[in-house]
Amino acid sequence: MKNRYDIITEVKKYDNITEVHKFNPFHDAKGKFSNKHGFASYSANPKTNAGRLAIERSAAGGHGKTMNVHRESQGENIDQNANWLKGGPGAKALAAQGQLASQQPKQPAQPAPKVFAPAKDVQEATDYAKNELGFKNVNFGRMDLETVNHINEELTKAYSEYPELKGAIENLGQSNSKHAYASVVRWADGKVELEFGALMRGGLDLVAQKYQNDVRVGFHPAGTDYRANIWHEIGHVVAGAAVKKQLGLKPDEKFTNGNDAGNYFRALKGKTYEKDIIKTAAKNQKTTMKALKAGISRYAEKDPAETFAEAFAEYHTSKNPRPECVAIMEAAGLAKKGA
Ligand SMILES: [Zn+2]
Repeated sequence: MKNRYDIITEVKKYDNITEVHKFNPFHDAKGKFSNKHGFASYSANPKTNAGRLAIERSAAGGHGKTMNVHRESQGENIDQNANWLKGGPGAKALAAQGQLASQQPKQPAQPAPKVFAPAKDVQEATDYAKNELGFKNVNFGRMDLETVNHINEELTKAYSEYPELKGAIENLGQSNSKHAYASVVRWADGKVELEFGALMRGGLDLVAQKYQNDVRVGFHPAGTDYRANIWHEIGHVVAGAAVKKQLGLKPDEKFTNGNDAGNYFRALKGKTYEKDIIKTAAKNQKTTMKALKAGISRYAEKDPAETFAEAFAEYHTSKNPRPECVAIMEAAGLAKKGA
């Protein structure tokens, strides 16, 4: 029988969405990624002993998980969750535990490329995302202007490095996912969408603090900051576009025959594009795939798609990308010449 938690993870499957890549920042206090008890998806189930223990570990690690699970189990909504993110009692408790690393202020964003100027309001940012970044539909929801500009700025940088990707993501929207920064959603017809979860609606300061804590416990790559969130998603888009290319399709192309669609989703589900790259990178580094993944981040250990996305994010946002991530980018043919 489906419980509430199964239903939540199936929300996206109702129609013809075939795959959702969530960037779920949750993990236990030691930063160990676990897909037991629902941590790979949304929430541990408090009705099981193991789930309760997982929630306790997570709460001890300062992730506010207990509160989120509790709220979810009560069927409360994102508004309330966003209020918590904006500094409700949960956030205060975490700060008191010193888990939010407030002693390390958010790093200043890299100087914007000349092509990007922050919008004055969300409408202007929406127009920019449509006209300059190639989105058909844009819904920034209730994200604040700073967050919206941050998203546009990182996407601008990504598309200036990967111009062929412009238009590959058709829509930018919001998801109900309370625990994800962002997700890439792939539809059966080849359409790709980028969605932002409730965490992003809490404002950039909290996103930055949370991400910094993730880095501190090894869940995300050392040397990265919150800007890596967008690049992680772009990493998935790059991988998806590479699979389409192998089928002779452009990044924004829809499937006109079932064979292409079938091959595309089989490759995505098997993560074959990423698996091959990681295999090559491990060989070049004279190490194992397992060790290579572990050298990137705990989240990278989940599967080859996440390994690739984490390495891609580190490569593009860290001042000193580490050998493991450089090896993956080189194996993918994406390393900058002479960098
Ligand atoms: Zn991911």
